[in-house]
Amino acid sequence: MTDDSASDDSATDSSATDDSADAVRRRLQPAEATLPCGRRVDETLEQAAEGGADDLDDHQSTCPHCQAALLEFSALWQPVRDLVAAPVTAPADLADRVMRRVHQMVTDTWFTLQLTELGSLKIAARIVARIARDAARQVPGVRVALGRSTASRLVRLVERATFSHRHPDAAVGVLGRTAAVELAVAVQYGEPVHDIAREVQQRVILQLRESIGLESVTVNVTVDDVVQ
Ligand SMILES: [Zn+2]
Repeated sequence: MTDDSASDDSATDSSATDDSADAVRRRLQPAEATLPCGRRVDETLEQAAEGGADDLDDHQSTCPHCQAALLEFSALWQPVRDLVAAPVTAPADLADRVMRRVHQMVTDTWFTLQLTELGSLKIAARIVARIARDAARQVPGVRVALGRSTASRLVRLVERATFSHRHPDAAVGVLGRTAAVELAVAVQYGEPVHDIAREVQQRVILQLRESIGLESVTVNVTVDDVVQ
């Protein structure tokens, strides 16, 4: 839409650029909230606000909580970025409104949150996980589908992060209307593994959009076994 290389060095009129990353810093108290994996909400939000949602570090590239948060925050922050890029001044309360949404959303990071005219809708992450697993199991050729990837370091991370609050379906990160799901599947020996993995991805995304009303769903599929 606009020039995406919106730069740091065009610091001519700084009152406008003030409304992006600085706004995040000013409005979120340090260490006020953390994602289930232990990452700080303010840092994650700042990364998204600066347009770095695709720049995943080692932890983020295997963490569904961080992936969901980055996607959700960057969608939420987009209107602020658009207005900052446009030759008009962002309405003073826009960033505040976004921050109120963020605060609401991070009060419980184990739930999706959707705001409607009638009130809020929250759906537990374990339900998202359950639906994802069931959808994966319905794909022909899939024998077993687990809500976590045994291959990733995620399991350890999540176990540490949820020490006080054990969560068996922890390979799902949800925030707002965004979810990131890690699935490990075993397929029937002799079936086209690649096609099955893609089919799992597509069905899970469709199912979560339809039954949970999620807007953005990322599904990472690991095929880690074949079954005779
Ligand atoms: Zn994380």
